[in-house]
Amino acid sequence: MSASLLIVEDEEPLQVLLTYNFQAEGFRVRSTTRGDEVDMLLKEELPDLIILDWMLPGLSGIEVCRRLRAREETSRIPVILLTARGEESERVRGLATGADDYVVKPFSVPELIARVNSILRRVNPDSVAEQLAAGDIELDRRTRRVLRGERDVDLSPTEYRLLEHLMQNPGRVYSREQLLNAVWGHDIYVDERTVDVHVGRLRKLLNRGRRVDPIRTVRGIGYSFDERFGA
Ligand code: CA
Repeated sequence: MSASLLIVEDEEPLQVLLTYNFQAEGFRVRSTTRGDEVDMLLKEELPDLIILDWMLPGLSGIEVCRRLRAREETSRIPVILLTARGEESERVRGLATGADDYVVKPFSVPELIARVNSILRRVNPDSVAEQLAAGDIELDRRTRRVLRGERDVDLSPTEYRLLEHLMQNPGRVYSREQLLNAVWGHDIYVDERTVDVHVGRLRKLLNRGRRVDPIRTVRGIGYSFDERFGA
């Protein structure tokens, strides 16, 4: 799976530990130690889930959560709040602010991973599903194989991730910048035209001998996996 997480935690050792463990589980992880940097990170890419510490410099976890819920495009991103023991009495306030779950420190990392997976399965089954399918296209995350009809489609790792990302949210339109961040990563500088080149290759390999193209070019914006494909 390649669900994306944003970890907001100012205790560096804990942040490093969480980042390491979630990456080992196959998550794409971005992190910050400051509450007032969340906005900027959300502009780059909307994560599938946010792990948010309660007490943070800049802006408290509660305030971050309130702002997330107040904005249409971030209002449905699941949030798990991390609280210290002394703050437990405030749990109710946390949940009332719209956190989906909370975990009291110190907690076990496997338990947090289990909770993250359970929330993601509930809100977006496709982000953790082993197989994605639409029309005659099947993508298998365990074997990293893609089939179109009976035919094996031999994709490079980048084209595979591109298809996986698009198929995860059929109909959702991604800008080139969003695709670059999600597929190539934030730390690499790649020209936006690279996206066009790879979409072109992906189409060629995927559509060989077929008339229907599942990838829609949205003029002036970017690309999406056609939600009507195979319907
Ligand atoms: Ca803290």
